[in-house]
Amino acid sequence: MIQRPRKGRGLRATKEVWAGDVLFADPCFAAVVFDSLVAHVCHSCFRRQAKLQRCGQCRFAQYCDRTCQRAGWVEHKQECAAIKSYGKAPNENIRLAARIMWRLNKEGGVVSDMQLTTLDDLEDHLSDMPEMDLKELKVDVHNFLDFWPRTGKQHTVESISHIFGVINCNGFMVSDQKGLQAVGVGLFPNLCLVNHDCWPNCTVILNNGNHSTINTMYHTQKRIELRALGKISAGEELTVSYVDYLNLSEDRKQMLKQQYFFDCTCEHCTKKTKDDLKMAGAVVDGVPEEKVKEVTEYSVEMLKKMENARLEANYNEVVKICRECVEKQENVLADTHIYQLKMWSTLGEVLSYLQFFEEAATYARKMVDGYVKLYHPNNAQLGMTMMRAGVTHWQAGHIEVGHGMICKAYAVLMVTHGSTHPITKDLEAMRNQTEMELRMFKQNEYVYHSMREAALKNQPMKMMAEPVEEGVKGLFRKK
Ligand SMILES: [Zn+2]
Ligand SMILES: [Zn+2]
Ligand SMILES: [Zn+2]
Repeated sequence: MIQRPRKGRGLRATKEVWAGDVLFADPCFAAVVFDSLVAHVCHSCFRRQAKLQRCGQCRFAQYCDRTCQRAGWVEHKQECAAIKSYGKAPNENIRLAARIMWRLNKEGGVVSDMQLTTLDDLEDHLSDMPEMDLKELKVDVHNFLDFWPRTGKQHTVESISHIFGVINCNGFMVSDQKGLQAVGVGLFPNLCLVNHDCWPNCTVILNNGNHSTINTMYHTQKRIELRALGKISAGEELTVSYVDYLNLSEDRKQMLKQQYFFDCTCEHCTKKTKDDLKMAGAVVDGVPEEKVKEVTEYSVEMLKKMENARLEANYNEVVKICRECVEKQENVLADTHIYQLKMWSTLGEVLSYLQFFEEAATYARKMVDGYVKLYHPNNAQLGMTMMRAGVTHWQAGHIEVGHGMICKAYAVLMVTHGSTHPITKDLEAMRNQTEMELRMFKQNEYVYHSMREAALKNQPMKMMAEPVEEGVKGLFRKK
């Protein structure tokens, strides 16, 4: 369904496709767990686990169980020996580069029939990199050479630098099974060929594969899927967005230039589409422009304060800051103003974590209403937001609104994630449960409320642990 032009980046559809169609599945070339999470995430299936078992050899790699360890052995074997002789594990960049090199040595640059490019062909943007980053890269290359086994095939500094450059601009965020938190970084060669558009016609989703069978032979591999967001005609170029659309066009352009070294000339950037909505004042009683500006500036300060409190996991302080801020924003900023949306989203999430469900639901709903006006109707971020808001409403006992939101979220995720993705499966279970509860509610409210209280105690929908910083918003890893 895809075709690559003879030169450069870019892929085209070879036939007409529709929303939710998978244009390609790209198996992972190599991936590693973030340094900060090596003791919390399985190095094979990338699931977050409270208890992991260490590799007896290197004492570094950790796994859910023997099955995961066996499944991860091909990737870990040489790494394991190298860590043992080096005496410690190097950083995530070096671990990923080494895994890529071992795979290249063993299988060459093309490891599947579907792979449209070799790693040599991928851009490394070394010549665009700022001095500081280049220095860091040189340190990594130096440490890589120390880590790399003397007895193995030796590589030139140039070819190692190329791999580090490729990782730097194409390192894809690998999330946990549910896609709720970024836990590692990996390389998916085909994805590197898909160009960016701030209003893209495709989305990319990670599928960690199925590791539930005991026999590792039946495990399916980690892969990403490129899925159509709507109708795409034959010959049309396929695009994904590397940045969150909620940012202003100026900010998106700056991010893209800084991390991916290009100037975005997409339609939405050129026309600054929806920038006005994202910075607008409230329409009530003609709020003066000066006032909107003043509250916008105030919000920037409060957002900084809020982020700091959040990093310290001081959630009561986060709520205090947000409440103070939304009071000033009310009736001054539009319901699509991104600084107001940010406050609402934080309040919804943190209040729900602190179990103030009623208030959390109010903000979650405002946030969804704002997001709907800004995002593409099939945006994955929008779907996930609707899902969280639906759960919050369910927790607050607003079963009708909650069920409605969960149904809408399900429709979006069927397109962006597909029916077999673990999060879609969770959502389907939630949809069935809320549907049943809604029927009960309509028959007998009293029975419904007593049942809901019991359900809340058991927390069957406990899918949101501590509010995680940002979740997974960007495609590629940010430095
Ligand atoms: Zn595992
Ligand atoms: Zn090991
Ligand atoms: Zn753009």
